[in-house]
Amino acid sequence: MDDLKGKRVLVVGGGSSGVAAANLCLRRGACVSLTDCRTVAELSHLDQLLPEVGRDLGGHSAALFAGADLLVLSPGVPQDLPLIRQAVARGVPLWGEVELASRFLTAPILAVSGTNGKSTTTCLLGAMLTAAGKRVFVGGNLGTPLCAAVDQPWDALVVELSSFQLETIVRFRPAISVLLNISPDHLDRYADMAAYCTAKGRLFLNQGPDSVLVLNADDAAVLDLADGCPARRWLFSLQRPLAQGLSYAAGRIEVRWDGQQLFLDTDQLQLRGLHNVENVMAALAAALAFGVAPATAWQAACAFRGLPHRMELVRHLAGVRWYNDSKGTNIGSVLKSLAGLSGPITLIAGGKDKGGDYGLLRPLLAQKRPQLVLLGAAAERMAQSWSDLCAIERATSLEQAVQLAWRLTPAGGSVLLSPGCSSFDMFRSFEERGERFVAAVEALPEQDYEPA
Ligand code: ADP
Repeated sequence: MDDLKGKRVLVVGGGSSGVAAANLCLRRGACVSLTDCRTVAELSHLDQLLPEVGRDLGGHSAALFAGADLLVLSPGVPQDLPLIRQAVARGVPLWGEVELASRFLTAPILAVSGTNGKSTTTCLLGAMLTAAGKRVFVGGNLGTPLCAAVDQPWDALVVELSSFQLETIVRFRPAISVLLNISPDHLDRYADMAAYCTAKGRLFLNQGPDSVLVLNADDAAVLDLADGCPARRWLFSLQRPLAQGLSYAAGRIEVRWDGQQLFLDTDQLQLRGLHNVENVMAALAAALAFGVAPATAWQAACAFRGLPHRMELVRHLAGVRWYNDSKGTNIGSVLKSLAGLSGPITLIAGGKDKGGDYGLLRPLLAQKRPQLVLLGAAAERMAQSWSDLCAIERATSLEQAVQLAWRLTPAGGSVLLSPGCSSFDMFRSFEERGERFVAAVEALPEQDYEPA
């Protein structure tokens, strides 16, 4: 099936991944259609779709499914749609966009997954390999879809993978895989936590003894998922020293491998917070396993300034620091971001409810006692979960939330947008939500500030 010439391929899902997949199949000689239940007006990447690809939009035509030799699924599309289930029952192969791409890629793949820290670690690792003079593709779930990397002369591909993308791999086999952590997320799409973990564990599905796993030694769920995989292990830990691997104590990362030892001072990093020390350790482990010189990898880590929308300091206005953490889309990430702040805090949270357990934040809320400004579809459930611990205001828009936070936060304090939810109830993406927040904060006039 790797030869797609003359095959009838149906791509399900018309976002950026689906468009890249359809174009790749067409270039490989397939007869391609793309279907999406959304209409042309709702799909923003169709202008990049090659004109020879057939379009079936605003619904799904059963005839296309019936005639397909191969289904390619975008990560946003659940596999249990009846038309997909029926095709699979007839024996039609089902590949995700990542699986499709991997069939046509020859350079080694370094895959990064986990509930939180994927994008930061992916970009760190990409920067380390680039510093070592490699031609590196950096993308996947973040930025450019993997299908767009095919037919280019890469030395390595650093790929961020979500649980949705891992659901639909078949033979995908990274040379090095990194699993950062697992905490509750996407429980609106998975039946339970076990189902979410199973999807994440597919990262190791095809890895043999010639490949490498980079694992968080502090996360029992991560270690459980890797159990039985024959690949070599590189461990990292914030909590305990390791005879082989990377560990952290008192401001220093200690690296021990193959009888060598190295100490790195985390004060040299521009990234802040212990969760970022984990991300740096994970990326360093993968880079060293790939053969990058430690000094080169460390220099790249120190030069890395972080990504927008992840604890991004937007403005320091009249003694108040404003942070954009729009990518904080689950409670695990809000925990890390809130834990890193001191002084009076106003937390702006809420968005599309993903069915997570907001109770997990209660111990930290009891300790930090932030003022809360809640918005979006999840506001009601959040308020029920937290109203005995914190003062709560409700906002109907992000701009109103910024105005409220401005009034409520005294000098010396911080305002943190870390929604703990996805953005799709009010915005197209977490990026749009973050940009709207930044614009609202930048519009606050300096002279009118009246501290609470
Ligand atoms: P992802 O791509 O997995 O969403 P990002 O690198 O974009 O992760 O970071 C998103 C948010 O997750 C950050 O703003 C931070 O609050 C939190 N985060 C980042 N790294 C970690 C980590 N290693 N452990 C827990 N939380 C993290």
